Amino acid sequence: MKKVSIIIPAYNEEESLPLLYERLKKLMDSIQNYEFEILFVNDGSKDNTINLIKEYREKDPRISYVDFSRNFGKEIAMIAGLDYAKGDCVIFMDADLQDPPELIPELIKYWEEGYDDVYAKRNSRKGETWLKKFTSKMYYRVLQSLTNVPIQKDTGDFRLLDKRCVNALRKMRESQRNSKSMFSWIGYKKKEVLYDRDPRVAGKTKWNYKKLIDLAIDGITSFTTSPLRISTYISIPTFIILFIYFIYVIAKCIITSTVIQAYQAIILLILFFSGVQILLFGIIGEYLGRIFNESKNRPLYLVNEYNGKKEMNE
Ligand code: UDP
Ligand code: MG
Repeated sequence: MKKVSIIIPAYNEEESLPLLYERLKKLMDSIQNYEFEILFVNDGSKDNTINLIKEYREKDPRISYVDFSRNFGKEIAMIAGLDYAKGDCVIFMDADLQDPPELIPELIKYWEEGYDDVYAKRNSRKGETWLKKFTSKMYYRVLQSLTNVPIQKDTGDFRLLDKRCVNALRKMRESQRNSKSMFSWIGYKKKEVLYDRDPRVAGKTKWNYKKLIDLAIDGITSFTTSPLRISTYISIPTFIILFIYFIYVIAKCIITSTVIQAYQAIILLILFFSGVQILLFGIIGEYLGRIFNESKNRPLYLVNEYNGKKEMNE
C-alpha cells in the first residue's frame, strides 16, 4: 500500500488543532487504499500545541511529530518535514484549515495519473483584504519578470509532491529558504487544482506586513541575482549622458571660441566619476551573484527519466 505523508507546520495552533485533527481523521478513515502519516512540525510553539499533538499520537499511530527547540519559521519547518516524512508522496498543509483537507483525494488522483507536483491554486481568497490580494498579484508579476523559471501564481504551499520532488528538495540545503521559488525551480510535471481558500478557523495569522515584505524580498533574491545588475544598467545611461554633455561642451567652446567654464568641467567630472563608480559596483555585483549561486550548493540539474525509468534523485 502506498503511503501519503501530510506535513503540517504548526506554530501556536492550539485553537485550530482539534478541528484540524477531526477533519483529517474523517478524511483518512474514508480513504481505504492508502496508508497515511500526519507529520506535525511543532515550530517552537509557546502554547499547548505540542501537548495536543502528543495526545493525538497516543490515540492514533498515524500521527508523528518533529518538535523544534525554538521557533525557526515555516520555511525551515517545511524542510524538516521533508526530511522526516516517510511517504511515497507528501502533502503540505497549514494547520489553520485554510487548505481544505477534502481536496486531498483529488491531489492524490492526479498523482496517480503521473503528475509529480500537484499544487492547489486559490480560486478566491475569503477573509483577506484587497490590499493583500493586490500586493500579492503585483509581487508575482514583478517576480516573473525577473526570471525565466515559470512561477505559479496564487499558489501557497498547499500541494502534493512525489517522492522524487521530495528527494530533490532535500538536496537544496540553503538556509535562506523560499519554498515557492524552489517548487518552481525543481520543475517536473505540474498540475494545477483550483480551490477556495477559506478563512482561518481559529487563532490569528502569524504574518504581519513586515514578515510578508521579508518573504517577498527573500523570494526575489533567492530566485534571481538580477537586482545586482541594476548598477550595471544604471551606469550605461550615466556614460551616455556624459558623452552627450562632453560633445555639447566642446562644440560650444569651439563655436563661441571660449574656454571651458568651471561649472561645465565640474559637471563632466561628476558624471565621469559617478559613472565609473556605478560600473565598478556592477562588476562587484556580478561576481557576488556568482558566489551567491555557487554557495547555495544546489544540484546543477534534475533528470526526469533515464532510459525510460523515472529518476528518483536519491
Ligand atoms: N507557521 C509556522 N511557523 C511560523 C509561522 C507560521 O510553522 O513561524 C505555520 C502556522 O502554524 C500555519 C502555517 O505556518 O500552519 C501558516 O501560517 P499562517 O496561517 O499564520 O499564515 P497565513 O495563512 O496567514 O499566510
Ligand atoms: Mg493561514
